[in-house]
Amino acid sequence: MASQSKLPQLTSSNLFVTEGGIETTLIYRNNLDLPSFSTLPLLNTEDGRQTISSIYQEYVNIALAHSTGVVLETRTWRGSPLWSPEIGLSIPQILDLNRTAVKILHDIRNKTPSTSVVISGALGPLQDAYQDSTGTVSFVDRLTENYTTYFGVNCAHPRYIIKAVRGMHTDVRSRIGSIRGNSSLKSHDELDNSLVLDRGDISVWVREFNELLNMLPGLKVVGGCCGTDEEHIDAIASRINSVG
Ligand SMILES: [Zn+2]
Repeated sequence: MASQSKLPQLTSSNLFVTEGGIETTLIYRNNLDLPSFSTLPLLNTEDGRQTISSIYQEYVNIALAHSTGVVLETRTWRGSPLWSPEIGLSIPQILDLNRTAVKILHDIRNKTPSTSVVISGALGPLQDAYQDSTGTVSFVDRLTENYTTYFGVNCAHPRYIIKAVRGMHTDVRSRIGSIRGNSSLKSHDELDNSLVLDRGDISVWVREFNELLNMLPGLKVVGGCCGTDEEHIDAIASRINSVG
């Protein structure tokens, strides 16, 4: 395992890309059911593993096209014992599929020697995933004696992330290394109750995301969250490339 200081996205002069909202892609484009928004159960079938691998491959292709690296998340969100009843898997199955999730990304990395493919192991959350950023950064730093290399902000449209960043102390801003913006300007409640996918306006998404690039000196990774897909990531990768 690489030590933190050797993480490729920290030493590269380019911003790395990461995924869009794979969960919303699977629900709305592939018409798949994800219990509690977890993709872990999909890894139980060959079909599911292939679907996930082909989506990963599209993000790898975007990174290659823009001459940068890519961070890919293991599909282990909510893949922990507490969620066993909700996601319909026994604890041994959960353990086994966690290993499968990492192996899928190892295989992709092995066949992509020409760029950095960073495997990001998703752990948790135990309960609610939504936290305010300022309090979380100082809380985690205190608890871990500043072990954390960087923090990520996700699951809000760049417009709302800009607002939050403006309210942050400079010290907190500089700790943000990853942004994954939602496509939609709707609230979480509106999105949770929505039957259709809101991919938003990609040109607005990119423009406002680009504003964030100038506000966050420690940014290393850019990507999308709910509602975004390959087109969003390709668009932001083009923008960061053209800025240099
Ligand atoms: Zn999200």
